[in-house]
Amino acid sequence: VIEVLRIGQRLVRDDRVTTHVALVSRAFGARRIFMNEVNPEIRDTLEKVNVSLGGNFEVIFVDEWRKLLHGYRHRSKIVHLTMYGERIGSVQERIRQEKDILVVVGAEKVPREVYDAADYNVAVGNQPHSEISALAVLLDRIQGGSQLDAEFPGAQKRIHTHRARQERGERRIAASRRIVGCGRICSGRRDKCSMRRT
Ligand code: SAM
Repeated sequence: VIEVLRIGQRLVRDDRVTTHVALVSRAFGARRIFMNEVNPEIRDTLEKVNVSLGGNFEVIFVDEWRKLLHGYRHRSKIVHLTMYGERIGSVQERIRQEKDILVVVGAEKVPREVYDAADYNVAVGNQPHSEISALAVLLDRIQGGSQLDAEFPGAQKRIHTHRARQERGERRIAASRRIVGCGRICSGRRDKCSMRRT
């Protein structure tokens, strides 16, 4: 099980970044995200995505992230993403073998105790970038890309590419309101479609 803890945020300014950390967590195979100091609308946004596109990813608000972090030391390995950590290439195989992990990402300066609590302090390159990119790269490296083929059960909408349909031998696309690979709601009318086919 993969879980994510996002510590702190620069109020208001970080709402979009925090939403994207949650979206990456969901899309890249995490079970839930814990976060503090955030706009409650972020949970509503993720719940709407679950309803529409499936799965039961959870957003959980926590008052005391320190308590959560220390509690998790007994049940999961703590993987803290930081530019000051060990290079990802040298630890990814070991992390891959762990059964349960809690990935910790920061927003501003992360307190020293997080570095000390972590089983792995991991750098995705030693240059500063973002918690969104660092999280995506880590989750991809440790799952070898398999997360991108995961099913999200209970979705109201499914993304269909024209190529997959062709491979399934579907000659006609039902003229229903489906989203296709180009990201548009598709009428199924090829002659009306200006998008490049996938
Ligand atoms: N200067 C801040 C610090 O001292 O941690 C950097 C904050 S950065 C905007 C927000 C978060 O992005 C960090 O807490 C870390 O989780 C993640 N991050 C940024 N660059 C990273 C890198 N090269 N490797 C791993 N994580 C990174």
